[in-house]
Amino acid sequence: MEFRIPQQLLTDNNTKTKKGEKYGWKTFILYLAPFTQNSKGVNLCSHASKGCAESCLFGSGRGGMSPNVPAGRINKTEYFLADRQLFLNQLAKEITKHSKKFKNLAIRLNGTSDIAWEKLKIKDKDNKSLMELFPKVQFYDYTKNPIRIQNEIPTNYHLTFSRSEENDEVSIELLSKGKNVTIVFDKVPEEYKGYKVVDGDKNDLRFNDEKNVIVGLKYKNMTGKGADNSKAFKSGFAIRVKDIIELQKVA
Ligand code: SF4
Repeated sequence: MEFRIPQQLLTDNNTKTKKGEKYGWKTFILYLAPFTQNSKGVNLCSHASKGCAESCLFGSGRGGMSPNVPAGRINKTEYFLADRQLFLNQLAKEITKHSKKFKNLAIRLNGTSDIAWEKLKIKDKDNKSLMELFPKVQFYDYTKNPIRIQNEIPTNYHLTFSRSEENDEVSIELLSKGKNVTIVFDKVPEEYKGYKVVDGDKNDLRFNDEKNVIVGLKYKNMTGKGADNSKAFKSGFAIRVKDIIELQKVA
């Protein structure tokens, strides 16, 4: 599929990342089209579950409001898939520009994808990854890929594991190993399965979270045409606090 090279790949118009500004951090995000939503059918979310697919951010908020938003994300995805080196070089250029302007710069490359960016090397830049190229920039992401979480990654790349209805056991195992895990709830509880829950909606600065906690996220209603928000709870992707209380009563 044809694509045009966008003027900018990284954007800073996310309400949640803007909350980080009062803590002194400027954040830019790259939004691609998740899963196989591209002409080549390449899956950019290798560990996506059915539930997260249905409730994916791509269908909520800005993604669900204006047809231009998904179209722009698909265009960027086509560009990424067609010429990865050109794409990475453009990202490097944009990060160079932003890092000159902002002392505390945070970059989230998987706004709506789950790509192992730490593995992508830029040929023109001594075969370095973006993290290696910008050691003073704080990169961070959410991932459903347990291998990425457990592998050694650059010290300036912070990853938080994302629970879904298909990786519940893995999530608990990772918590037992001291990792942080995000869980989507209808409303954020104080504790879940013996782990402290912090409110992940206060800001998006995941690299500043305490260690070994659950990062609770409130389920964001999908606003796109035909959106069915009950599916997220039926599939088990999102958890209703009321149901936890009921289960505790039974146990
Ligand atoms: S893994 Fe994340 S980005 Fe990919 S489909 Fe699931 S929620 Fe969306």
